[in-house]
Amino acid sequence: MISDKANRIGASPTFKVAAKARAMKAEGIDIVDLSIGEPDFPTPEAVKAAGIKAIQDNYTKYTENDGSPALKKAIIGRLKEDYGLTYAGNEIIVNCGAKSSLFHALQSLINDGEEVIIPAPYWVSYPHLVQLAMGKSVFVPTKEENGFILTAEELKAHITPATKALILNSPSNPTGATYSKAQLEALAEVVRSEDIFIVSDEIYSCLLYDGFKYHSIASLGDDIKKKTVLINGMSKAYSMTGWRIGYAAGPAPLIAAMNRIQSHTTSNPTSISQRASIEALSGSQAEVSRMRAEFERRRNYSLMKLRTIPGISCFEPQGAFYLFPNIRSFYDKEFNGTPIRNSYGMAYYLLREALVAVVPGDAFGADDYMRLSYATSMENLEKGLLRISQALAGLKPAKRAKRIALSNVVTRERGPVPVEARLPLNLRDGLLAEADNRLAADGVFEWNANIAGVIVRLRTNVRHIYEMWAENWPPAPPDAGLEPHGVLYAVDGIAGREPRAFFNTETKTGVVVNVDAYGPVRGLALGLAGDVAGRRFGANLVRGMAVEHDGSGLLLVGPPGTKKTDLFFGLLRDPRFRFHAGDVVQVRPAGTAVQADAFERKAFLPTNTVELFGRLAPLFDRSKCENVVIRKEECPNAECLRTEDCRLDRGGPFCYKAAKDAYALLEPEWLGPSAAPRRAALRWIFILRNDSVSPALEELRLDDALRILERGETPGAKKSAAAPAPPFFNPYFLSSTEDRIELEKEFFRRLLPNVRTFLFNAGAAGVDQIKETIGA
Ligand code: PMP
Repeated sequence: MISDKANRIGASPTFKVAAKARAMKAEGIDIVDLSIGEPDFPTPEAVKAAGIKAIQDNYTKYTENDGSPALKKAIIGRLKEDYGLTYAGNEIIVNCGAKSSLFHALQSLINDGEEVIIPAPYWVSYPHLVQLAMGKSVFVPTKEENGFILTAEELKAHITPATKALILNSPSNPTGATYSKAQLEALAEVVRSEDIFIVSDEIYSCLLYDGFKYHSIASLGDDIKKKTVLINGMSKAYSMTGWRIGYAAGPAPLIAAMNRIQSHTTSNPTSISQRASIEALSGSQAEVSRMRAEFERRRNYSLMKLRTIPGISCFEPQGAFYLFPNIRSFYDKEFNGTPIRNSYGMAYYLLREALVAVVPGDAFGADDYMRLSYATSMENLEKGLLRISQALAGLKPAKRAKRIALSNVVTRERGPVPVEARLPLNLRDGLLAEADNRLAADGVFEWNANIAGVIVRLRTNVRHIYEMWAENWPPAPPDAGLEPHGVLYAVDGIAGREPRAFFNTETKTGVVVNVDAYGPVRGLALGLAGDVAGRRFGANLVRGMAVEHDGSGLLLVGPPGTKKTDLFFGLLRDPRFRFHAGDVVQVRPAGTAVQADAFERKAFLPTNTVELFGRLAPLFDRSKCENVVIRKEECPNAECLRTEDCRLDRGGPFCYKAAKDAYALLEPEWLGPSAAPRRAALRWIFILRNDSVSPALEELRLDDALRILERGETPGAKKSAAAPAPPFFNPYFLSSTEDRIELEKEFFRRLLPNVRTFLFNAGAAGVDQIKETIGA
């Protein structure tokens, strides 16, 4: 449902930390919030009064789209007075906060793929704003020893023909670094000689310390002014974050473009806030000075305290209200055996152990740091800094590097591949020639497996596939080596072919091409074995999750999305139910008794099942695994990446739940408390559906059950054109010929009279109803 673009964008980490701090506070936890991004002072009284008056005067309608002329005049006046800059009315636009000014400026400037240079550490929103404008962020790390200032050389080195703009933020959020006139001059020199534009975010220009004199880069000459869009707003200077007024000053054509876009995004910013902003900009500036002086006092205190903490170094900021201490020296130290690996780990540790909320430096592109805000009372700062220093003192050097015990392989290919089940003989021959060539060049791993009595020989050049295979299946008896029932090729590195699986039924040959993952090979092996077992032994493979209760077997069958796994693990939570088979059983109707056998040596389980059955995690630790995430850079889960609560960050060696294509080959014996049975007398089949209207449970007559099974669709289920339902709810089933379907139907015709078959609506009932139905 959600677009790729939106999926790639996480909520602002500062918002998330703040939300967490707020939630902890609401639970009565005495948290000190140093993640704050707004002044803790009230909006000046005169400004509030102007807002109230605007309402009383009925100034509550649309204004000019780009802001009222009166407010623009006040903005022009302030820019003139503060920086000596002269702008005309058509060179100013008022937006809903400086963030909105930045959004509209970048939308108006950037063509698809154009590069925007962003010095790091950077304010969290810049990369996302560039991404939304379809541009490409080019990060330039600045150095702490250079005071986090971008040098002319660094800027020059990153300019390419695709460079469109530089985002300059002085004073900076998060470092507080502020550019001197000379430093701006050096950058301006580069900008003069290059065809690039400057987006100058000056939102903290009012908050400067130690008598630092502020300069806007736009004031360095008319040529530079023409290449600059200056961004500022009311949020920080006048403690007006909630009023949402920001503005941009720049060349008239750019401002006109921003105005056109704004006419479709927000229209004018709030009329009432505009009126209040006129008062803020043109009235007395005494409140701004008072606030600035108070911030300077807090900065001095916090910096002094921070610098007394052993292991911390901190740059002295000239502006804004943040400190950005370097915390690198604490990485890999541990608390209760959990190492802190990065800034997220540190932020998590401080939140949990010190009850102090800070923002991890990684959010600003600088993982060796964390951001503390001093936009909070002296009392809070004292308390917060004391807690931080105590918590950091509690960290111990790591005794030894933690070994990743898990035997895990990360594959290139993930998930299922298309299966061509009717490979003609002549094409099979061609394909095998290609496969054999590759195997001859790479060397071949070969192993005969006994899959439900069917001997399948694997030939592969992928060590991981071979190892998983040998782990998964019991070996074939030695004399079966001469004549396997079927042969499976898993050959990677065949030039010019897409990842795909093929099957030829006459010769029982399967070929998996250019796949390095085990899943598709296991899937084709089950298809092949099912084909042979059904034809030869009349003991077919049935796809479903099987549990055993007092010697009797229960099978859960159904398409994805019908809570099969939830119900399975729900039943297993009751110790009277035992794990029988996680995915497929071999079923043999023998008179009125029906034998169901588990035939996989190991259960091939998606590791995200730990969410349903916590007991699995330590068992997966001991299992052979595929695609478990052990490095955050390789995490495919956008959802996880958007939250800051990542177990890898907190020092966990791996994450089982992050990847949906991660599997473990689990030893069923370990699931205990008593050994998993290999055989059960199958008595109940629950065919699952999941909707809000059907009855919870219906017992099915043979014909109805057969019809539903053959179609592989429960009545009323939504059809998916992308993934047609496999017959018998069995994606491994190789319906290579009509007679194979008939055989399978015949099998179920013999089976169903001897079991009770239910249609179960997982949207209307849960495990309790299943237990009740079977009298457990
Ligand atoms: N730029 C920077 C560097 C900021 O820190 C912020 C606010 N945190 C903004 C822009 C956005 O300010 P506004 O509230 O006006 O949208």
